[in-house]
Formats: sequence, C-alpha cells, structure tokens
Amino acid sequence: MPKYIFITGGVLSSLGKGVTAASIGALLEEMGYKINFLKLDPYLNVDPGTMNPYQHGEVFVTDDGAETDLDLGHYERFTTVSLKKNNSITAGKIYSQLIEKERRGEFLGGTIQTIPHMTNEIKSAIHDIGRDVDIAIIEIGGTVGDIESWPFIESIRQIGLENKGKNCVFIHLTYVPYIETSDELKTKPTQHSVRTLLSLGIQPEILICRSPMELPENIKKKIALFTNVEESNVISAPDLESIYELPLKLAQQNLHEKLINSLELTNKSFNLERWKNISYTLNAIKSESGNSTINIAIAGKYVELKDAYKSIIESFKHAQIETKTKLQINWIDSEKITDDNAKLLFEDIHGILVPGGFGLRGIEGKIKAVQFARQNNIPFFGICLGMQVAVIEFARNVLKLENANSTEFDPNTEHSVVDMLEEQKKIRYKGATMRLGNQDCKINANSLARKIYQKTDLSERHRHRYEFNPAYADKYATQGLQISAMSEDGLPEIIEIPNHPFFIACQFHPEFKSKVFAPHPLFVNFVKAAKESFKD
Ligand code: GLN
Repeated sequence: MPKYIFITGGVLSSLGKGVTAASIGALLEEMGYKINFLKLDPYLNVDPGTMNPYQHGEVFVTDDGAETDLDLGHYERFTTVSLKKNNSITAGKIYSQLIEKERRGEFLGGTIQTIPHMTNEIKSAIHDIGRDVDIAIIEIGGTVGDIESWPFIESIRQIGLENKGKNCVFIHLTYVPYIETSDELKTKPTQHSVRTLLSLGIQPEILICRSPMELPENIKKKIALFTNVEESNVISAPDLESIYELPLKLAQQNLHEKLINSLELTNKSFNLERWKNISYTLNAIKSESGNSTINIAIAGKYVELKDAYKSIIESFKHAQIETKTKLQINWIDSEKITDDNAKLLFEDIHGILVPGGFGLRGIEGKIKAVQFARQNNIPFFGICLGMQVAVIEFARNVLKLENANSTEFDPNTEHSVVDMLEEQKKIRYKGATMRLGNQDCKINANSLARKIYQKTDLSERHRHRYEFNPAYADKYATQGLQISAMSEDGLPEIIEIPNHPFFIACQFHPEFKSKVFAPHPLFVNFVKAAKESFKD
C-alpha cells in the first residue's frame, strides 16, 4: 500500500516548501525508506521551460531532459533520488492532457469537469509516483486559497478520504511573523491559513512553522489550540544559516518518528551522523576569519534574482563544505563590464565563472570577463553559454578572427565559431526543443578534465541549442585551446587551455548533478584552484 506525505503552504510563498519536502525526504532515507517526490504546480504553463528566469527562477533539468521547477533541484540535492519527467506536473500539463483526450473522443461525449475529470488526472499522477516506493512526498506549489490550486487540494483531500484517514499525512507549512515594535510572534496568519485549508476539507496533522526565531512553548500551545493540531505536532522551523541544517532541526523535534508512526510504518534504524557533520563543518567555516575568504565572481545577466542561478549557488555550497572553504560569491552584472572597469571589478577575485544564459544582452561583457580571466591567469569556469563565450573570446583575441560570434547573437557572422546543428534549425516551437537532459561523453587522456573527474566516461545534463562549431577545432588546438571531451555524436563537451592555471568550460550543466553528499568535481576543483590563486 503506498504511503503519502502531502505538503501544502500557507500565508505567503517563498517559505521554503521545497527545502522542507527535500529535508523530510532526507530523513526518511536515513531511516532506510525508499522515497519519491512529486511537485504539483498550479500555474498554466505546460512546463517551466519557456518561463522567464526573472519571474520564475532557474529551470531545473532532469536526467531524462524534463524542464522543471527549481524545487526539484532541492529534492535531488538532499537525497539519492534521481527525478524524471513525471516528478513534476503543472495545471497546464493536466489541462492539455485532458483536452487531448477529449479531442480523441475518449470521454464519449460526456461533459468534462474539474471534478472528477481534472482531479482524476491529478490523482493518477500522484498514484504513479507512489508505485514502487515506500513513501511518496507530494508538494503542492503556491499558497492555500490561491484560485489555481483548488483542484490540487481537492485531489489530495479525496486521496485522504479514499484511504479513510490512513496512509496519508497532511503537513502544512506556515509563517509566524515577528513584530518588532511589540516584540511578539503573531499566530493569526497561521490560524487563518489553517482555516482556509479546513474550508477545503483538509485538517493538517502537522504544522511546520517558519519564523525568524525558535517558537516558544506558549506560541506552540496557542497555535495548537486554534488549529486543532496536537501541540507536539507544531514544529518550529526558525531561520537557519544554511538550508542543509534543516533536516537536523526537524529531526531534533522528532518529525521523522511522527511521520513513521502516522503512516503505520515500523521504525527502522536511524542515523543522523552525516547531517551532524555538515552542520559541524558549516559552523567551523563560519568561525574562520574573514581574511581567508575566497571571492568568486559570477558574471551573469540575471544577477538581481539569485534564484535564476539556484543550482550553481548550491553547487558552490557543496564544494565549500567538501573543501572546508570560506567562500563569497560576488555578482557582477555582465552588461556593466567594459575594458576600462574590468580591472576594478575583478580586483581581489580568485575565480571567475560565466554561467548559462540566452540572448544577446550582456554577451560582450561576458566575453570581457573571459578575456580578463585568461590574460590574468585567474581560474576560469564556463558553463554552457559560458563555454560558448570562451570560444568566441579565443577566436577574436587569439585566433584573430575578427567579429567571430555565435549565430545566436549574429546570424550573419563571417566566423560562426558557435552554431546551431542543422536539425535544430528546423524547429519552430520554443517549448522543450533544445538538446536536453543526459548525454554521454568521453574525456581525453592527459587533460585537466580527466584529472578532475578521474574517469573517462561521463553523463551530464544539457539545455542548449548551439554548439562549439567542430569545423574550427583544429585552429583552436594549434593555438592552445583544447577540446578535452566529446559527446558520442562528435560534439565538443569540455574545452580547456592547458597553458593556464585553471581554465575549463563545459557545454553541459554540471550544477544540476551536484548533491550535498556528492559534490560535483568541476565545482570542487574550481574552488580548489581559486584557493591556490589566493595563496599566490
Ligand atoms: N543560449 C545558448 C544555447 O542555446 C546557451 C544556453 C545555456 O547556457 N543554457 O546554446
């Protein structure tokens, strides 16, 4: 019998529902249970692939090439789970499936309604996830009371009813604000939010309360009384230094045992050592002196919204824990980088990263960032578009191919050192039409990449349309830029400049594969190289 944990959110968004779901998954895995996740997003886009990173944050890509919500990244980073297309579903996808079925005549002329047709579709997605695992964790995006989320809440209510109150736990994540002028934590928003959930037919069994500080007993008591939740089930989730401290915080309040008891599962062995070590390392890093801080510059165009680079930021945190490094990320708006100010902008910087991106804006600044790193022996790491601009920079400034460019930015360039494959050129729709997901590639012997990965065969995740044009590869090689890994179908995957302390760029997105207990070697070695350059 599948067991379900449903997580809803109240009061406001951005409370960390994804991190909470991921932390719960981590605790259940530490107890030896097999888990899976489902993110239900009430918005009408069919998938987040075409959404603006400014509005939505990063698009997270799975092994099988699904373009998903960034919360899925948290699920993977905290656990051993590897997610697929069916781990993320939006209202838009449900509607499009329903309409397709209706057009095919599958409903035999019946009237198609939210209940039962849409809810059945949602319930079947939930049941699919529960198959073959001990516990499925289902997170509902948005906040209760949102008009779009109603069919999703209704679906989980029905699953609770069908299971006669067993095999399901409803968790509600809420907010308890602190009012400075009266020096008080206020419970009213939580009361209202639970009331809204109750009006939709769901009594939460556990409340996880975000607040700037630990909830005192009297506040827990008050929340319990007004929300009909047992006092011991009111869990405090105060602001923490790092999201990787949340599993420990929840375990200290016995959340894992409550869940297992509620789901009528037996309490298996439980080991929190790994999470305790993380907390210990983070504290040790924090208490180090500021003088030892390694400064990494990220030259991107979405620098005002850090969520656009979520997986990169998290990968740095993993590398930081692995190498026990005090690290600071300096965000540099690529549109503002010029020949004149580069020296000033990159003063005291120990490593420069150019991340992925789309479109012309900020490209010339990114090229300047690469040039600065190359010419000044600063460790450089380029990701996807970051590799493409490294290729353009080298063409212009070393190969002297004037105005060399990617056809993405200049379709008529004389030197198309980055170009689109013929089959990509035929695609007109924008949704899910890129080179997406895992692809195998081989690393050459005697390369930096080989030293970093310590193996020959790789499988990394992609999300792009353009490629380093292999027709130019020989020209680059003779001038000192090597291709150090190629895909199975002969496309350049990693480039490097051997005659530089650390200059590496990849066409794929390593940030989607880094986990807190399996940091990505490219990030780890980039941080190590930055540390080296700090010593010099
Ligand atoms: N815009 C580039 C392409 O489509 C790079 C994409 C990316 O960085 N993810 O190829």
